Amino acid sequence: MTSIATVHGYPRQGRRRELKRAIEGYWKGRSDAATLSETAATLRRERLERLRDAGLGEVPVGDFSLYDHVLDTAWMVGAIPPRHAAAVPDISTEAGRLDRYFAMARGDDRVQPLEMTKWFDTNYHYLVPELSAETEFALDPTKIIQELTEARELGLAARPVLVGPVTFLLLSKSADDHDFEPISLLDRLLPLYVELLGRLAEAGAEWVQLDEPVLVTDLEPAQLELIKATYQSLAEVEHRPKIIIGSYFDRLGDAAAVLASSPVEGLAVDLVGAGAASLDDLAGQPGLADKRLIAGVVSGRNVWRTDLAAALGTLGTLLGLVDRLDVAASSSLLHVPIDVTDEPDLNPEIASWFAFADQKLEELSILARALRDGRDSVAGELAINATRLASRKESPIVHDQAVRDRLATITDDQLRRRSAYSDRAAAQHDRLKLPAFPTTTIGSFPQTNTLRQARADLRTKKIDASAYDVAMRDEIARVIELQTELGVDVLVHGEPERNDMVQYFADQLSGFISTRNGWVQSYGTRCVRPPIIAGDVSRPKPMTVDWAAYAQGLTDRPVKGMLTGPVTMLAWSFVRDDQPEGDTARQVALALRDEVTDLEAAGIGVIQVDEPALRETLPLRRADRPAYLDWAVAAFQLSTTGVVDGTQIHTHMCYAEFGDIIDAIIAMDADVISLEAARSRMEVVGELTAAGYPREVGPGVWDIHSPRVPPTEEITAALRLAGKTLPPERLWANPDCGLKTRGYAEVEQSLRNLVTAAKEVRTDLTPA
Ligand code: GLN
Ligand code: ZN
Repeated sequence: MTSIATVHGYPRQGRRRELKRAIEGYWKGRSDAATLSETAATLRRERLERLRDAGLGEVPVGDFSLYDHVLDTAWMVGAIPPRHAAAVPDISTEAGRLDRYFAMARGDDRVQPLEMTKWFDTNYHYLVPELSAETEFALDPTKIIQELTEARELGLAARPVLVGPVTFLLLSKSADDHDFEPISLLDRLLPLYVELLGRLAEAGAEWVQLDEPVLVTDLEPAQLELIKATYQSLAEVEHRPKIIIGSYFDRLGDAAAVLASSPVEGLAVDLVGAGAASLDDLAGQPGLADKRLIAGVVSGRNVWRTDLAAALGTLGTLLGLVDRLDVAASSSLLHVPIDVTDEPDLNPEIASWFAFADQKLEELSILARALRDGRDSVAGELAINATRLASRKESPIVHDQAVRDRLATITDDQLRRRSAYSDRAAAQHDRLKLPAFPTTTIGSFPQTNTLRQARADLRTKKIDASAYDVAMRDEIARVIELQTELGVDVLVHGEPERNDMVQYFADQLSGFISTRNGWVQSYGTRCVRPPIIAGDVSRPKPMTVDWAAYAQGLTDRPVKGMLTGPVTMLAWSFVRDDQPEGDTARQVALALRDEVTDLEAAGIGVIQVDEPALRETLPLRRADRPAYLDWAVAAFQLSTTGVVDGTQIHTHMCYAEFGDIIDAIIAMDADVISLEAARSRMEVVGELTAAGYPREVGPGVWDIHSPRVPPTEEITAALRLAGKTLPPERLWANPDCGLKTRGYAEVEQSLRNLVTAAKEVRTDLTPA
């Protein structure tokens, strides 16, 4: 058997984020369509050459994108919403096509963009196609044909990787509110995939991979039937490349039987982490014997070196079961940074534990070589790999006995507040003396150019730490003064010192590692550098107390301390794979618990622990959710329950669908929760009430994702509406998220309206 190494995709932004700069330059009018297309083509060629040089036997094409691969799929099948077609009617030129494409991606002064949401449980965001009964698909395979041709001109075996029809429709949304279901368009969409297969075959594709990651979610039997029927009919197409169905991010479960018995020629499966269980799901399936299997034995979404010997064990099990066995990363590598050798600040020992995209390519080619030429042919590589794994396993950077000893002493009692909520509420009422509908914000105030400049100057050593400190204090004083002047009830210091709500804490906690060039695409041209949790986590010293205490010293009103919660710290980092996530969360939580009690000791009476990511990291499979929610809630409690009754604990979450986690929200036992609700018209208040939520809520009454200033009457109406379902003494008035992306002009006016509205609604409560 001739096994090869391949991947489903590789980072798009370029080693120095060249693509990001080229696209943003085009948006700003600094370059034209031809220049952008040329830069993109150069980058595509470079990445193909890199994949070839790394020893891949087959390269993916179609995974490259100027913005997002789901948007590319929508474009390919002609799913263009009428408003975008109308806004950019002429697409006869490259500039016209780009303008329409980017109008769909990010909107412009004429139209709203498509909605954006998380790609499964990753931190990548895709654009949600909008479909309706009127949608008329029309195939435009230009992009994929061009990319295939480019690869073939380089003499490479190339496999188009595209979003499959069922996943495409299940990820789409109805363009209007009616009960139209996009999946009902499957019959209309399939002929386009049939046509596409013909075009790809003509262009020389031997194989095509159609990704159906919905296969790892809880599909209804009827939906599995759709997958079955879809690939049955695609397999019947006469003139076509051989088809691989791709899936990733979790185990196959019931889908394994459907895939194995499908008449397509190949499967690509995720065999890492939760996906490892797919091995058993597949093992008993008779249909595999004549298939090509692309085994995802190297994680596509984490940054650790693969245990190559273990991976070879998995591959050994598969060898006898399939007709052809190839190796790949479990998912596209777009979820990891590009190259760990590009990290000059990393301690070389620690660096040797990491595999970014390029190191994963090396691992894959070693594995493929072992399959082809026998294990002995890679004995040297396996020995190096074993040394790296051992170095990590034994490193004092990873293991901090003091952290473990301390965690072992934590009792269940310490996971609970000292008193029942009613006693706490009374103590907090006495201490804080807040009116009904107290006004507050979610934490951050606008990040001004002055602040960004100060941070840049500190980095380039133009100013020293004390000058930076002064700049931050000045800003805090301004923010406190503004809130005082406006009459806000619970103030914040504005978070001017935080570049990012996770990075800021990661930089100060032991056990976290930061990278210099470890960029990962979050959406479009936006890239983030997630920290890496490499070892046991502890807090060498207080992280926020000086800022909070300084702010509190400037006012008699309560200032709210602001922390990022343990679940969110994990969700937006790369986590260790050598212990359960719940254990890592507990370590972060314990460090935060110390910060919370230090804030309390410094006189801070209101402390908010943000958990915006709690909902988004909910496992894909329903069966896994209770265990996740258990550790998530326990971690939040560990961080927040060390305080006295009179200290008020807040939390904040910012995505609209809370239905799945409402019991967890109740169990977290925060005294106050602020939530996004502006866009869902206060529905969340009703949901909370219905579930018996017994404490205080701040339903966001203004949508900070838009620069629009909410009129006072609108806020008043929202508060009154909320007051119909929940007693007014349990309601707060606040925006629906932090203000850091907004400008001062709108923020000031909006806050003024918020305070006025709260005052007005309070008068409803005074008997006339
Ligand atoms: N406290 C953070 C802020 O205001 C919360 C951000 C968030 O919810 N994503 O910026
Ligand atoms: Zn938020």
